[in-house]
Amino acid sequence: MKKKNIQPFPVQCVTLGFELACGRHIKEFKKFFKIPVLDIYGTSEFVVLFMECEYGFIHHFPYKTYIETVDRNGRQTSEIGELIVTSFKNKYMPLIRYKTGDLVKLYETDKCQCGFSGKSIVRFEGRQSETTYSADNTLVTPRMVDDLVAQTPKISFYQMEQVSKTTYVFRYVSDKKMSKQEEARLIFSFKKLYGYRSTFTLQKVENIPVSQSGKYIVSFRAS
Ligand SMILES: [Zn+2]
Repeated sequence: MKKKNIQPFPVQCVTLGFELACGRHIKEFKKFFKIPVLDIYGTSEFVVLFMECEYGFIHHFPYKTYIETVDRNGRQTSEIGELIVTSFKNKYMPLIRYKTGDLVKLYETDKCQCGFSGKSIVRFEGRQSETTYSADNTLVTPRMVDDLVAQTPKISFYQMEQVSKTTYVFRYVSDKKMSKQEEARLIFSFKKLYGYRSTFTLQKVENIPVSQSGKYIVSFRAS
C-alpha cells in the first residue's frame, strides 16, 4: 500500500493475528496507519486466547479457557514456557491440557488501567519449534532475536539458522545493503545474546521462503 501510495482505510485500530508479529513490521504498520496497532494471539483450536489492550498489555480471555506454562521437562514454570490450554466451553471436542507449541511468560495482573484483572502475558515469544540455543545451551526465543533485528531499520525480513552449537547464518532481505559498521553492530548484538564464542555469517538474500503451511519462520535449528 505504501509503495503504491494507497491511503489507509478509516478504521479505529489495526489488529495483528498472524504468528509472531515482528517489531520491524509493527513499527511500519504504526507509521503507515497512524492509529493503535494491537496484537491478538490465538490458535486454530481455541480461536482468540489473548488480546493487547489499549495500554499495551496482553490479557487472557478468561471465560473459555484455563492456561498454564510448562518448562522443557513438563513442569509448571513462572518463566518463559510452553503454553498449555484447557477449554471449558467446547462440548464437542474438549481439550484438556493441550500443548500449543507456543512460548509465553505469564504473570498476574492485579488491575490494568483498562479494568482487566487476571492472567496476562509479557509477550508472545514464538514457536517452541523455532527456538535456537546459545553457546552455553540457554534458550533463545524467536522474539529475543526479533528484539535485536527490530533495531536495524534496513532489514524487512530475516531468518536465523543455527547450523551447529556455536555457528549461525543470518539471512536478511533489505532494499539497501547494510554498511560494514551496521553489520558489525548487529553481529555484536547477536554475540551478546548467543555468547561470545558464537560466530555469525550474514547473507543478504532476495526473499525468505515461508514454510509449507505458509508461515514465516524467524529462527530454526538445522537438522
Ligand atoms: Zn489492559
